[in-house]
Amino acid sequence: MGYIDFRSDSVTQPTEEMREAMRFADVGYDVFRDDPTVNRLEEMTAERTGKEAGLLIPTGTMGNQLSVLSWTNRGEEIILSYDSHILEFEVGAASVLSSVGYRVIHSPDSILRGEDIEQAIRPYPEDIHVPRTSLVCLENALGRGSVVPLNMMKEAYDTAKNHGLNVHTDGARVFNAATALGVDIKEIARYTDSLAIHLSKGLCAPVGGVLVGSADFIEKARRYRHMLGGGMSQSGVLAAAGIIALEKMTKRLKEDHENARYLSSRLESFPGVTVDQSRADINLVFFRWENVPAGFLENLPAQMLKSGIKISGASGRDFRFAVHNDISRSDIDYTIKTIEKELNTYQ
Ligand SMILES: *Cc1c(COP(=O)(O)O)cnc(C)c1O
Repeated sequence: MGYIDFRSDSVTQPTEEMREAMRFADVGYDVFRDDPTVNRLEEMTAERTGKEAGLLIPTGTMGNQLSVLSWTNRGEEIILSYDSHILEFEVGAASVLSSVGYRVIHSPDSILRGEDIEQAIRPYPEDIHVPRTSLVCLENALGRGSVVPLNMMKEAYDTAKNHGLNVHTDGARVFNAATALGVDIKEIARYTDSLAIHLSKGLCAPVGGVLVGSADFIEKARRYRHMLGGGMSQSGVLAAAGIIALEKMTKRLKEDHENARYLSSRLESFPGVTVDQSRADINLVFFRWENVPAGFLENLPAQMLKSGIKISGASGRDFRFAVHNDISRSDIDYTIKTIEKELNTYQ
């Protein structure tokens, strides 16, 4: 505690109100569907997104994998972007758990166009050599920090549907996307068959999220969740915090986005810093730092830590800073001052 932590929005602490709600949560055995708080969170999320049903998920990764398991059969293929979370950051789980292949699309802005999807769909069953394509996986917001406009989600969804495919959307930051697009989350959810929502990133719940979709899909996913060891007992303790995340914390994301833009403009006051404006729709700030004294970038994380600031190391010259509920404007001002001081030691 006490650190200003830019490494991720997964570092957010549960709010006092969440801790109180967890303490007094009405709970039961969720595997018997006996936990009233879990049931309430699942129903609320389904209602909020315009879907039939919801399922509490312990992590976003499990939500994505339950979707791949539920929508595909062994030996089929899923279409996704080269930098999607499912492909890059889930330990290859879809190939292990679902035994599916990856059909990867390399689009410079990570958005899957209708024509890209069409080209990626296999000529099954006409051609005896190819696997069947069964699922298109989207993200909104994209992990790269930009959002997918609704018309492009619609294009991807319509293309998939025209070919009898299902669509899953990784919505780790879907409320950030809705905020940035200025639309109700239903508008995003209508262009996907399943949507994995995180309550534990920028929305500050300590654990978990909700997977939503049709009642049939959720029934399947619930069985797979149990198979993977995700049938939890009195998980209403988590759902109680999740309800506050959903009802309250979704309303304040605009502040994080504004703070991220404020941080961007302050960072750009340093010579050599360029913020990537094509990835600046939500709470993430991607920037490159060129023409700096030797050793400065490498030492920066350790030096900042001495002043109580946590940042991830640069990948080459590229940084990612995440802004969230536990980072205020004055924290950003203090951070800029600290970087300034550190830079001055090199002069
Ligand atoms: C963080 C993240 C996930 C995974 O969430 P976990 O809860 O850490 O498993 C999935 N997709 C995207 C785009 C993410 O940013």
